[in-house]
Amino acid sequence: MCLSCDAASRRGFLRLGLGMAGLSSLPRVVQASLKKPLIMLDPGHGGHDPGAIGASGLYEKTVTLATARELQAALLATGRYRVSLTRASDRFISLEDRVGIALERKADLFLSMHCDHLPDETLRGASIFTLSEKASDSLAATVAQDENSADGRGAANVSPQVASILASLETRAMKLSSATLQDDVVASFSGAIPLLPNPKRSANFAVLRDPSIPSALLEMGCLSNALDEKRLRDPKQRRQLVARLTQAMDAYFKDPASRRIAG
Ligand SMILES: [Zn+2]
Repeated sequence: MCLSCDAASRRGFLRLGLGMAGLSSLPRVVQASLKKPLIMLDPGHGGHDPGAIGASGLYEKTVTLATARELQAALLATGRYRVSLTRASDRFISLEDRVGIALERKADLFLSMHCDHLPDETLRGASIFTLSEKASDSLAATVAQDENSADGRGAANVSPQVASILASLETRAMKLSSATLQDDVVASFSGAIPLLPNPKRSANFAVLRDPSIPSALLEMGCLSNALDEKRLRDPKQRRQLVARLTQAMDAYFKDPASRRIAG
């Protein structure tokens, strides 16, 4: 076991209120399981909030839940992770509660899963966002406004006090880990999954605001584009998406920067 893994494990035990002596009394299977990082997948929208709706009638909330479940199964099958979902059925959860669930379960990584709906129907492909008080471009600002409106309140217009808290929350370590995940997803998608131009974006997303969990928001494709809608509806093509996301998670958790945070 390397030093960073060992340190991460010890932090995990302290969170659980277990000293190292207490840990050794646990069954070996439980000990091994506690060392696995917990990935929290957040299927966007749900219940009365369908999210974006494609031209042929595909709901964003349906695609996000289906893909999150498929990704959960694929990640669990590796034996390397624990995986939870913020919602496992078609129900509405506020953005604040989604973050609360990740915090309560002490997730090591938070991935919010969505689909775009852009004014330009010719645009297609995935993109991945990290938190930034200031949007990387006008398209990123619009996407954040759409996703934040799930709670019926625009999160882009925050008070100066909140803005200052947000700025201070963007710690270097968290930014580094979230950016690492963003890099890993784009690298694993390249050549296999269509990507929007400039797929690495940043904006002020409500679900990315927790300072203690590395997080990113994935737009898996554009429901405003007929080809992307078809791709996201097709279970076979979603399998490819899931395989690439699993590859990205493997790359992320192998990275020393993320190991320092995990645990
Ligand atoms: Zn969405």
